[in-house]
Amino acid sequence: MLEIIGGLIGLGFLVLAILMCRQESKIRKINFWVALLICFLTTPIFGYFIISSFALRNPIGCQWCGNSENEVEFCGVCGKNTEGITEQELKQADKGSDFTHQS
Ligand SMILES: [Zn+2]
Repeated sequence: MLEIIGGLIGLGFLVLAILMCRQESKIRKINFWVALLICFLTTPIFGYFIISSFALRNPIGCQWCGNSENEVEFCGVCGKNTEGITEQELKQADKGSDFTHQS
């Protein structure tokens, strides 16, 4: 009986750890798997303190069109990254470097 209770508590901690890591990795600058690893290595309670010390994720914003809520690498409004290069331009640049690599 005690084993079952212990197992349920363990399972409960596991579920809580996963949910907590998912939530925290969304709002903080930490990868979900890294957060989960910290939880397993330090126990979820101590892990939570470590994870909660990570900086909050702030939107990158876009300096090119003023879209302050941009959170992705390429701006959803103008399509540029922080260097002012669009995804298409970057792909073309990659193709160019592949070409020079082959020759
Ligand atoms: Zn933009």
